[in-house]
Amino acid sequence: MGYVSEIFGSYVFNNTVMRERLPKETYKALKKTVDEGIPLDIHVANIVANAMKDWAIEKGATHFTHWFQPMTGITAEKHDSFISATDDAHVIMEFSGKELIKGEPDASSFPSGGLRATFEARGYTAWDPTSYAFVKDNSLFIPTVFCSYSGEALDKKTPLLRSMELINTQTLRILKLFGDTTAKRVVTTVGAEQEYFLVDKKYYDQRKDLIFTGRTLFGAMPPKGQDLDDHYFGAIKTRVSEYMKDLDEELWKLGVFSKTKHNEAAPAQHEMAPIFETTNTATDHNQLTMMTMKKVAEKHDLVCLLHEKPFSGINGSGKHNNWSLTVKDGQNLLNPGKNPHENKLFLLILVAVMKAVDEYQDLLRISVSSAGNDHRLGGYEAPPAIISMFLGDELCDILQSIEDGTDYEKRKKEKLEVGVDVLTNFSKDTTDRNRTSPFAFTGNKFEFRSLGSSFSIAGPNIILNTIVADALEEFADKLEGAKNFDTSLNKLMRDTIKKHKRIIFNGNNYSNEWVEEAEKRGLLNFKTAVDALPHYTDKKNVDLFTKHHIYTKSELSSRQDILIENYSKVINIEAKTMVDMARKDIIPAVSGYILNLCDALNSKKAAFKTISSKYEEETALKLSKLNDECFETVIMLENALEEAKNITDILENARFCQNTIVPVMNKLRSIADEMEIHTAEKYWPFPTYDKLLFGV
Ligand code: ADP
Ligand code: MG
Repeated sequence: MGYVSEIFGSYVFNNTVMRERLPKETYKALKKTVDEGIPLDIHVANIVANAMKDWAIEKGATHFTHWFQPMTGITAEKHDSFISATDDAHVIMEFSGKELIKGEPDASSFPSGGLRATFEARGYTAWDPTSYAFVKDNSLFIPTVFCSYSGEALDKKTPLLRSMELINTQTLRILKLFGDTTAKRVVTTVGAEQEYFLVDKKYYDQRKDLIFTGRTLFGAMPPKGQDLDDHYFGAIKTRVSEYMKDLDEELWKLGVFSKTKHNEAAPAQHEMAPIFETTNTATDHNQLTMMTMKKVAEKHDLVCLLHEKPFSGINGSGKHNNWSLTVKDGQNLLNPGKNPHENKLFLLILVAVMKAVDEYQDLLRISVSSAGNDHRLGGYEAPPAIISMFLGDELCDILQSIEDGTDYEKRKKEKLEVGVDVLTNFSKDTTDRNRTSPFAFTGNKFEFRSLGSSFSIAGPNIILNTIVADALEEFADKLEGAKNFDTSLNKLMRDTIKKHKRIIFNGNNYSNEWVEEAEKRGLLNFKTAVDALPHYTDKKNVDLFTKHHIYTKSELSSRQDILIENYSKVINIEAKTMVDMARKDIIPAVSGYILNLCDALNSKKAAFKTISSKYEEETALKLSKLNDECFETVIMLENALEEAKNITDILENARFCQNTIVPVMNKLRSIADEMEIHTAEKYWPFPTYDKLLFGV
C-alpha cells in the first residue's frame, strides 16, 4: 500500500474502522441510522461509544469534544477528558453512549439572535452520525448539531440537514415520474475550491490590522502587483510547496480529499480544491480545511489569511461552490450525457435550477453577503453582485428549441449549414470557460462563484438545496396529476423557460453593459451586504422556508439579525483598529520623520548658507499637511464611532456604518497611503505591501 493510501483517513472513525471494530449487529444498526435516519438505540450507542473511545485512545486522544457550527460561521468545540475516577483514587478511561449522543456545552455566549432567553441560555449538541468522528490534536471530535431546548436550530448544520432531506424527497418524486422506482436516496454533492493567502509570520505579527481584522487597513501598492499575471499557475516556491505538502498530509489523515493545488492570480495567493462529496460532509471538511490551513501555516512560520480581501488593489479570495444532484451510489442527475436534448430528466432538472435561481436571486445574493465580501463582489475580480446563470451555447440552443417547439436536430443542421460551429457530441469543453459568471453550468455541475473565502459553505448550500427542491416540488405536483405525461412535461418546460430565461447570461459579467442589461431585464442588484440582508425575511422567503420546515420564522429573523449585527461589528473593529494604528503608529512615525527632515534642513542651512534643501523642505511640508489631515480624519472617525453607539436599531446602525463610517475609513486610508509613499522606509511603523506580498 502506498504512503498516501496508508495515511488517508487514518484519523477518521470511518466505515472501515466501524466494520472492523463493531459487533456485526451494532454495525448494522449504526449503518441504518446513517443511511436511513433511523434513531439510534442507547444500547447500541453505548457499544459504539466504547469502540470509538478505544480507537481514539490508540490514536493518542485523551479528550473528546462535541464539534458544532454555531451561527458565527466557524466551528466550536469544548473538550472533556475521558477520565473517570475510581474508588481507589485511580482513573479509568470512559465514554458512554449518552456522552456520544448528547452534550450540553455552556454555550450561552454564541449569537442566537434572540432565540434563547437567558433563563434557558443553554443549548444542547446532538451527534450527527452521517459525518464521521475523527481525532485531531489529541481529541476525539464528534460532529454534532446545536439546538435550543425548545428545538430551535442554533447552528448551520441543522438547517443544512433539513434541506438535504427536502431535496431528497422532492427529487425522488421526479425520478419516479421518469420510471425510476429503485433509487433510495438523492443527495447534493459539493466540491469547495478554497483560495487563501500566505504571509510571513514575522511581518504579520507587526500588523495590528491583520491581527485584529484579517485584512490590511492601510498599505500603498508596491511597484509590482499582479500586473504581469506571472503568479497564476506559476512555479510554487519551496517554502510554499513544503507548506502545501504538509497541508495535504494533515487533510488526508482527516479524510479530506485534497486534490489539486496551485498558485492563484495574486502574489502570495494559492488554492486548494478537494474531490467533491456529500454536501454535509463537504461542509464539515471545508471547515476542517480552513482550520488546518491556519494551523499548518504556524508550523512553517507563515500565516494563512482567509479574508475575502486581505490586500486592496489586488485580487481577493473566494470559494467556488461546485454543486450537483446525485442518486446516492448512482448517477449524477446534472450529467447531460451524450445527447442532452434527448435527456428529458436532465433538462427538467436544469430548468428547475433555472427557475429557482431566477425566483430566489435575492437569497443567493444574501447567502454570500458579508462586510468582507463587499470588497470583492463587483470588483472586476469576482462576479458582480447581480446573480445570473451561465449555460453555454449548446444548452441555450436546446432550451430555445424547447421554447419554440422546434426540432433541435434540425436546428443544429441548419446552423451547421450556415457555418456555425456546433459539435456533434455534447462535450464538457463547450460549457463554461467564461470565468466571470456567478453561477455557471460547468459540464455536470453548477459552480457558484460568489462565496467569500472565509464563508461556511453551509449557508449557500441550504439555499441552493431549498430553492431547487421547491421548484422540483412544484414540477412534481404538476406532473403527477398529468393526463399525458409527455405533453405536460413539454408544456411545463416551455412555460418555465419562457418565464425565467432572463436569468441566463453567457456574456462578460464584469462589463458595464451587463449592469445596464440586467437592470432592463429586471434582475436584482444589491450592491452591498446591507442592501441585501434585510430581504432575508421578505414574505416570499419566509413562506419558502417555513413551508419546507428549513427555518421557522424566528430562526430566520434571528439569522438576519445576526448577519446585520455582524456587519456593524466588523466595521466597528476595523474602524477602531484604524484609529489605533493611525494615532499610535502612523502619525507619530510621520511626525518623527518630519522632525528628521527639519533637523537636516536646519543643519544644512547652518553649514552652507546657500545650498538648496528642496527635498527636505518639500517633503516636510507635504507630510506636515497630510499628517494634520490624517489627525483630523482620525477625530472624525472617532466621532462617527461615538455616534454609532447611540443607534440601537440594528439595521439603522449597519446603514450608518456603511454610509458614514466606511467613507471616513476610506479617506483615512488614502491619506495614510499617500504619506507612506513619501516617508522613508525605515520610519514607516510596520511592514509594507512588498514585504507582505513578496516576502515569503
Ligand atoms: P476549476 O478550477 O476549473 O473550477 P476544478 O476541476 O479544479 O475546476 O474544480 C472543480 C471542482 O468541482 C472540484 O472540487 C471537483 O471535485 C468538483 N466537482 C466535480 N464534479 C462534481 C459534482 N458532480 N458535484 C460537485 N462537485 C463536483
Ligand atoms: Mg472553479
